[in-house]
Amino acid sequence: MMHVPFYSLDYVERDLGSSLVESVDAVIKSNWYIRGSHCTAFEEAFAAYCGKKACVGVGNGLDALTLMLKASIILGRMAEGDEVIVPANTFVATFLAVRAAGLVPVLVEPDPETCNLDVARLADACSEKTRAILAVHLYGRLADMPAIFEFAKAHNLLVFEDAAQSHGAALDKNKLSSLVSRLSSNAAAYSFYPTKNLGAMGDGGAVVTDDLELAQVVRSLGNYGSEQKYVNKYVGVNSRLDEVQAAVLLAKLPHLDSWNGRRQEIAARYCSEIKNPLVRVTPVPANPKTHVWHVFPVFCERRDDLQKFLKERGIETLIHYPIPPHLQEVFDGALSRGELRYGPLPIAEELARTELSIPMGPAMSDEQVAYVIESLNEFT
Ligand SMILES: *Cc1c(COP(=O)(O)O)cnc(C)c1O
Repeated sequence: MMHVPFYSLDYVERDLGSSLVESVDAVIKSNWYIRGSHCTAFEEAFAAYCGKKACVGVGNGLDALTLMLKASIILGRMAEGDEVIVPANTFVATFLAVRAAGLVPVLVEPDPETCNLDVARLADACSEKTRAILAVHLYGRLADMPAIFEFAKAHNLLVFEDAAQSHGAALDKNKLSSLVSRLSSNAAAYSFYPTKNLGAMGDGGAVVTDDLELAQVVRSLGNYGSEQKYVNKYVGVNSRLDEVQAAVLLAKLPHLDSWNGRRQEIAARYCSEIKNPLVRVTPVPANPKTHVWHVFPVFCERRDDLQKFLKERGIETLIHYPIPPHLQEVFDGALSRGELRYGPLPIAEELARTELSIPMGPAMSDEQVAYVIESLNEFT
């Protein structure tokens, strides 16, 4: 029996070899571990990769989300208590960030095909307190940004992105963020958690934006609210991308497109060769570049049986996510306290009940991909 891990990081060593050790060694020898030349070099490289003017490294993805929203409040573009539209099906961090910034998440159902924010539902979700949309590119698939921008423009809303799962996803020939800049959106938050498409060897995150003022405030917020040593301007936190993580990310960045390319190859096979009426796959988008397949979700009414079936065949799977954020204990009573706003969410709840993520990643061999497909097709 073949063993197929859910995700393996073996490809990092395979593709980077000793250059990774050399990068970390350079940091060790520099005797400078926070806010040094490696962080600056990575910030410049990642901003350029995204086609944006500025990138600010922070401690993790949750902080990137929270600080970009807090900075927008400090700059007077939103106020505490304002509403932010978010997709109901996302990782809980999206909601936590909106709450941490003192804003109110308004939950919108996903499109069941793409699993992203259903743009047709935006109009119903808006109230006079709504100030922004926080789109999530869930599973690595770009949300329908042109439609979101059009709606935001018509309703005078800010647009933010939770890009924690979508490093390198691009619209047309431009990187995602260059579309964002053309349409003058605010900022995108990235996570470099080790298993993300671009992952560090610990925690890391970044805010990417064309808004230099916003970038400056995020940088300051991540450094005790200080721009000048021992002079404090804002109620800040300590959230910085350290030199070791920046050096690792800088070494990995040139490989990101080819790693995403391998994910797209695997996804194309999964989409065309998984042929089991009990197992639904989300389709490859018309422009394959708009999806970097952070995870590959399948949907099955008997999801738990399918997971067990695959486990018996040596195939590891995960569920993204078993409990939708609005049903988490942390949000008990939040609706009646006005800390969240939402109506019935049957689609988000059904996705949580039926989703199963199957193995995906640059380390997978063709044999492993074929074995996963064959096993899924044998499930009855
Ligand atoms: C991973 C993730 C985050 C949080 O990133 P951390 O670096 O783990 O804090 C936020 N949103 C989404 C959609 C994620 O997948």
